[in-house]
Amino acid sequence: MDFLIATHNRKKQSEMQRLLAPLGIKVLTADDLGVVLTEVEETGKTFEENARLKALSGLRDTSLPCIADDSGLCVDALGGAPGIYSARYGGEDGNDKLNNEKLLKELENVNKEDRTAKFVCCICCVFPDGGEIVVKGECKGEIAFERHGSGGFGYDPLFLTEYGCFGEMTSEEKDAVSHRGNALRLLVKELKKINFDQ
Ligand code: IMP
Repeated sequence: MDFLIATHNRKKQSEMQRLLAPLGIKVLTADDLGVVLTEVEETGKTFEENARLKALSGLRDTSLPCIADDSGLCVDALGGAPGIYSARYGGEDGNDKLNNEKLLKELENVNKEDRTAKFVCCICCVFPDGGEIVVKGECKGEIAFERHGSGGFGYDPLFLTEYGCFGEMTSEEKDAVSHRGNALRLLVKELKKINFDQ
């Protein structure tokens, strides 16, 4: 059965495809389908609302079951910021350098023990019959005082976990403990309850 994944990120697509293939699910992007998805304004107040907005829009555009995610970093000392605004925290959408600089600046005077944070990933999967699956994965850690490693993306170089810094992990190591990996494993569990062969 074909599913749309509402992202242009090939890495997210292949990770999802690998996990969902055993269920008889083929994960396609808009490019694979030759369609242009409607641009979705992320007006939700939570990760879940934004993931649902994207999934429902993809379903409307293609009539296929659609999977979308929304994720971000929540820092305790900043009252949960940057949260749903993680991608544009530094003022420019998707600018990792500015985002990391702003985060370090905001935490300039915060001690190590108060630099706790978590990554959150919410995945929403919607079906043409109105059905919906929502799962949420988290990964706890703390914000470093300086960058570590050059791997990953976003806030990875500043995110320390009990297993090491995200910025110094291989993709496989990160997937095994990350918010996105945890959410994906929950999604697989839920999808396994549905029989797609009928
Ligand atoms: P998106 O929901 O995948 O688009 O992520 C939103 C923003 O959250 C990204 O632009 C990153 O700044 C941050 N983010 C989400 N997941 C990660 C991660 O695994 N590592 C580092 N940053 C992340």
